[in-house]
Amino acid sequence: MPQPLSDNATLVAEAAEQLKDASPQEVLVWGLTTFPRNRISICTSLQDEGMAVLDMAVRIDWAVNVFTIDTGRLPAATYDLMDEINDRFGVKIEILYPDAQEVSELVSEHGINLMYKSTELRLSCCEVRKVLPLNRRLKTLDAWITGLRRDQNASRANVEVVELDEQHGGIVKINPLANWTHEQVLEHIETYNVPRNSLYRKGYTSIGCDPCTRAIEPGEDLRAGRWWWEQGDTECGIHYETVVDADGNSRVLTRADSAPAAEASDT
Ligand code: SF4
Repeated sequence: MPQPLSDNATLVAEAAEQLKDASPQEVLVWGLTTFPRNRISICTSLQDEGMAVLDMAVRIDWAVNVFTIDTGRLPAATYDLMDEINDRFGVKIEILYPDAQEVSELVSEHGINLMYKSTELRLSCCEVRKVLPLNRRLKTLDAWITGLRRDQNASRANVEVVELDEQHGGIVKINPLANWTHEQVLEHIETYNVPRNSLYRKGYTSIGCDPCTRAIEPGEDLRAGRWWWEQGDTECGIHYETVVDADGNSRVLTRADSAPAAEASDT
């Protein structure tokens, strides 16, 4: 049974204080011993951060749950990595898929490469192919584990090690790498010889769907290769609710944006 929101709020407040300076491994131990195994899972897009988290987690619990979302538009290198992970860690990655009917309707109406036509259509594609499959899975969990880091981009600057995930019904979101830098992730990958997506060797620094990811140029921001044709906050909506503003730019909703709606719903 899911924990009531108020219980999770207390749990999260205590854990956030207790774990604010903890190592990623200590945070994972807390998560994996606090929640029943069938109610907690790693969610990863198989980038370096997620791979580092998976590597740490299997050393704590070899049967830890892990899922990824196959949007149907992933690069071939990411599918190769899925096989490598199975061989290396012996874990079965649960692969989530979008609803075929929803994809069919969207693509039939707007074309397969709708993401380049407008920010609204790009977000619709992310919604159908990523956000909805994620939401369906999170409804079955009490907690999920991500590879989010605070210094990845401005939208993620307030990521906490343990958070109450109000966007997903008040479950607990655990971000063991919140305090880590990109360099610390790379050091872990190298030290433990963690499998990597081969696109990193071709100048990619953040890897998502094939049509929406490119290699970066020297000096560019590490996430500059994601949705590079857009202005605004380049998020897909998985971690942050994202809207299109009056100028056609995507913008991540903050807690302040949702406060009036929350108050209204209480009445
Ligand atoms: Fe669609 Fe691109 Fe979003 Fe993938 S990242 S779901 S292809 S818009």
